[in-house]
Amino acid sequence: MSGPKAHIRSSEIGSAIAKAIHEHRVIPGTKLGEDELSEIYGVSRTLVRSALQWLSHEQLIDIQPNRGAFVSKPSLREAREIFEARALLEPKTARSAALRMTDQAATHLKAHINAEHAALAQNDIGKALRLSGVFHIEISRLADQQTIGRFIESLIARSSLIIALYRKRDSALCEKHAHNALLEALSQRDGAKAEELMQSHLVDLVSALDLSEKTTKQPSLKDALRPENP
Ligand SMILES: [Zn+2]
Repeated sequence: MSGPKAHIRSSEIGSAIAKAIHEHRVIPGTKLGEDELSEIYGVSRTLVRSALQWLSHEQLIDIQPNRGAFVSKPSLREAREIFEARALLEPKTARSAALRMTDQAATHLKAHINAEHAALAQNDIGKALRLSGVFHIEISRLADQQTIGRFIESLIARSSLIIALYRKRDSALCEKHAHNALLEALSQRDGAKAEELMQSHLVDLVSALDLSEKTTKQPSLKDALRPENP
């Protein structure tokens, strides 16, 4: 990205920081100081503030009154609980979705898997994570379970960050393979198979996470964000 800095928009700053979080360049708990960010990107604090609002809405950062913005730090306990809750809700929901599957929904899900794979091929981890989450949300929509669907949606928003932070290998991103297998079971309206596949997919996701305690040396915010400086 080039051009005068005055033309940088808050959404570009938000995306650049989100990317740095997804790529582990900026680790959980890091303070995102408004002054420092406005210096790094050469923009006003107002622009920085609006980028931070967006990141907060995406649940990537927490804005604390009088303290400022910090990269969200879901605890290990929260990480485990989120996936336990998903394991309770999503397999049964996949079963219901299979029973309501339509050809139109199959085409839609297939296009979705392709977009997810394209993002992975371009190494756009943040986008791939978002898309893989939406795939799960789409399945809950198919199941036509609004209450459970809302729970799943909020669990998935939190999961994306947990996966971004704790993945120990790229397979923590929902694999094309796993989603294709799910889509096939759904298309065959095979509820038992869809339930079983969703269950094992979630087990695979958790096993690709490193949920052990560790301390990592944090580079300065300036060094961490500089390569992304538009
Ligand atoms: Zn998945």
